[in-house]
Amino acid sequence: MNPKTVSQLKSELLAKKKTILNLQALNKHTAQEEEQSMKDVIDRSDVEGEWFTKERMSHHWKVELAQINTSLQRIEAGTFGICQECDAGIPVKRLRVRPDATLCLDCQEIFEKESGSIRLSGPTPSSGVIH
Ligand SMILES: [Zn+2]
Repeated sequence: MNPKTVSQLKSELLAKKKTILNLQALNKHTAQEEEQSMKDVIDRSDVEGEWFTKERMSHHWKVELAQINTSLQRIEAGTFGICQECDAGIPVKRLRVRPDATLCLDCQEIFEKESGSIRLSGPTPSSGVIH
């Protein structure tokens, strides 16, 4: 892969990481403040709804941070953007969407077929729908 592209993606990942860390800090701060004022809140349902959203967001950030860290490690190791299976280059377009992708599209397709359409990330379908 073009070293220029790699460094571009790297700085994008670092910027994203910084944003998430900032959001996490902000989220934590707000959560603490809310905890203190919790006893004054009469309508609990609103608060619980907000907490639920925050929990989901912080989970989302954790997943994204893990992806970013994995990608940064792969950049350092020089294996970023290279398919683990066939050594082919993973398209930059794909890496922008999934920076932690370790397989090219062809291998990903084979992998998904072999593993019974279970995806690498996201919720596993409860009922095994095979097309
Ligand atoms: Zn491949």
